Amino acid sequence: MGLKLFNTLSRSIQEFAPLAPPKVGMYCCGPTVYDFAHIGNWRTFVFGDLVRRTLEFKGYAVTQVMNVTDVEDKIIKRVRETKTSLSEFTGKYEAAFFEDLKTLNCLLPHQTPHATEHIAEIIALIEKLIARGIAYQAADGSVYFSIEKYRGCGCTYGQLLKLNFDEMRAGERVKSDEYAKESVADFALWKARVPEDGDVCWPSPWGEGRPGWHIECSAMSTKILGPSFDLHLGGEDLIFPHHEDEIAQSEGATGKHFVKYWLHGAHLLVEGKKMSKSLGNFFTLRDLLAKGFTGREIRYSLLTAHYRETFNFTLEGLSGARTALARIDECLGKLREAVGAPNSDSAGTDVSSSQQHADSEIGVPNDLVARFAAALDDDLNISAAWGTVFEWVRETNRRLAENSLSTAEATVALTEWDKIDSVLGIGAPPAADAPAEVVALLEARQAARKAKDFKRADAIRDKLKAKGWVIEDTPKGPKLKKI
Ligand code: AMP
Ligand code: ZN
Repeated sequence: MGLKLFNTLSRSIQEFAPLAPPKVGMYCCGPTVYDFAHIGNWRTFVFGDLVRRTLEFKGYAVTQVMNVTDVEDKIIKRVRETKTSLSEFTGKYEAAFFEDLKTLNCLLPHQTPHATEHIAEIIALIEKLIARGIAYQAADGSVYFSIEKYRGCGCTYGQLLKLNFDEMRAGERVKSDEYAKESVADFALWKARVPEDGDVCWPSPWGEGRPGWHIECSAMSTKILGPSFDLHLGGEDLIFPHHEDEIAQSEGATGKHFVKYWLHGAHLLVEGKKMSKSLGNFFTLRDLLAKGFTGREIRYSLLTAHYRETFNFTLEGLSGARTALARIDECLGKLREAVGAPNSDSAGTDVSSSQQHADSEIGVPNDLVARFAAALDDDLNISAAWGTVFEWVRETNRRLAENSLSTAEATVALTEWDKIDSVLGIGAPPAADAPAEVVALLEARQAARKAKDFKRADAIRDKLKAKGWVIEDTPKGPKLKKI
């Protein structure tokens, strides 16, 4: 079965057929580096990561581009308020962003272009639009995109929202990057320098100034991925005006169809409400880490809801993520143990007999990968995907408890897990990966027990506990387990 995705452009679920398979060009609108990214932002970035990992899992050769917006209205305001330089200010938040990306185990996009490093491309794009008569310089020195001229060329403005111009009263022009769809107006491509900009400006054919936010993405995406590419992603708030304006600028300049599939992630609420600092429900990733949650738990939690459903994030839900991950970890730990130390009943079973097992009624579902893939094919149906994972955990645990899982089957099960975890990205490292210091303590405890110094053995066990590890004494010897 092929991958099907909801395309905002057609407002329908469509079969995914890239322009030049197996290559896929994918552009994700990236962070505006004026603050630490919040958990809502992270929902969208983890969604982008899920899309990329799913495509790679399906064998596509993906080029993922994520821009870094390092100059726009909000940034300039903060630079002014903090009396810092632009690069000093944005550098701090950019570094934090990439650290957080890693904490959440998101793959690093192949390219992460910066707006301030593409001023020449932005100017060239605006010049093209002016040459085509679709952009003009206004009396305030800024350059605007003319919606009327664009529509006059037979182009459609509002392809994603399906704007009805007959029922709207278009405004004159708008300089701010963000505006409501009720006030559709010519929007700024190049903003003439004003005193509040300080020294954040670049020379241009229209005088000193800086780019508008929307043109940044058009210039960087088309430079790297070409005039037409496969996928463009962002949160649902970006549909208007950001993505509409990107389409208008790009198609206006190249005359080519810009993007084949537009994917938008729904927003995240916290405890049922829009996040806001005054409500006290505003969390950055760092706030949650400070509360003792891990990147894995947060990633898992963000991946539990379908990307087109509003997700209600709660701290209770995050604790639930911990329980769910512990179930998976326990099962994986036992499988690893089975592979590393086969029990005598099932050791030596060959693959053909494991196949019989897997196909039998009590077998571990041997089609974990196929069923997981089918769930994702269905517009990234993540609940169904988790359903297959937990069914697999249940069946595997049952087989393990019955002692009816052969070494070969356990090996197959772990290989299957690795395949699906290439998409989920939540797998814990094997327990053997415990820090050397923890392993050393375990060994010291064993030595103490051997010497019948139980007092010392217990003291070491408490020490391990304080470090977040417990010892489970199993018939096959002591095992370390993360609390
Ligand atoms: P920004 O850094 O403000 O440009 O936003 C980065 C990304 O986060 C964009 O794709 C936004 O659509 C997305 N975003 C912002 N707020 C939320 C939210 N509450 N839930 C989900 N995504 C969001
Ligand atoms: Zn963008």
